[in-house]
Amino acid sequence: QGKRESLYVLNKWAGRYFAEQLMGTDQGRSIGLSYFYERGYREETIRKFELGYSPENWTALVDSAKKEGHSTDFLLETGLAIEREDGSLYDRFRGRVIFPIHNLTGRVIGFGARTLKTDKKVPKYVNSPESDIYHKSNVLYGIHLAKRAIVDRDSCYLVEGYADVISCHQAGVENVVASSGTSLTTGQIKLISRFTRNVVILYDGDEAGIKASIRGTDMLLEEGMNVKVLLFPDGNDPDSYIQQHGSSSFRAYLDKNEEDFVFYKTRVLLGEAGPDPIKRSEVIREVVKSISLIPDEIKVSVYIQQCSGLLQIEERVLLTELNKMRLERA
Ligand code: ATP
Ligand code: MN
Ligand code: MN
Ligand code: MN
Repeated sequence: QGKRESLYVLNKWAGRYFAEQLMGTDQGRSIGLSYFYERGYREETIRKFELGYSPENWTALVDSAKKEGHSTDFLLETGLAIEREDGSLYDRFRGRVIFPIHNLTGRVIGFGARTLKTDKKVPKYVNSPESDIYHKSNVLYGIHLAKRAIVDRDSCYLVEGYADVISCHQAGVENVVASSGTSLTTGQIKLISRFTRNVVILYDGDEAGIKASIRGTDMLLEEGMNVKVLLFPDGNDPDSYIQQHGSSSFRAYLDKNEEDFVFYKTRVLLGEAGPDPIKRSEVIREVVKSISLIPDEIKVSVYIQQCSGLLQIEERVLLTELNKMRLERA
């Protein structure tokens, strides 16, 4: 496994390079570090997550890497460098703050990089491409720092973004990982299920977050996970909620507002449907569909009971529909 090891070594070097740029250069401190401080990140947090900065320069990293004897092939394979038509290399990340992405054992496998510009035309985040050591669909941001707390609490919070994971840690909530923008995959769920069967979805309280929470719920249920959901008000994400309300209100909000998926999904979809009876019956079908994905028969029957009370529909009717759905899938 010479090649994979070389990719790990280069990413480790690059992580240190970005951290040194952040802490040890004037540009890094005045632009990158002050950005993190403005977001409320403490120095210990910045070190814990190994955050960094990539200078506003086309070849800063490439030049240093070559001086250190790192090969062109690996610079391209990790995606740290991009090749021009004439064969020369330039840095992928320029003038951005850097979030190293780690695997389960804490080795750096890729990077997320956030722009500091408010210009809507530049992409907010740029990420490393896939490589032999970085398969996005099997990665959860923050898992190496969360795994112990996930086991201890027997529960895992699932958030959307890097900033959410970091702010949660600062707020004293460490059993948290991010799917980082991609829609949740089976590989990511299997990773969580090595540590717990209980997931609480904490996606952004916007249109996209609501959609993703409903999709994510079904994927999690299919894998036999117990799912709760909590979305923050007024388009907030966990990070912005913590900034606005502070750590202890955040933790209290978590404890008070998490909702079992059946209640969550029913409430959200019924709200969208309004009083229209056809739309309401579609909602019921949607909720039964989610329940029908659960592999455990005892849970299914408890959920059908609950759903029957909630929606004022006879259990028998819901069960008939559920069995029909299962047959159609088989
Ligand atoms: P911030 O708080 O720094 O503004 P965020 O994490 O709240 O960022 P969102 O827009 O909610 O940003 O996106 C959630 C996550 O999706 C990001 O943390 C990032 O991992 C991923 N993401 C967002 N925009 C992009 C993009 N343009 N390309 C790739 N991934 C992205
Ligand atoms: Mn979002
Ligand atoms: Mn967000
Ligand atoms: Mn955010």
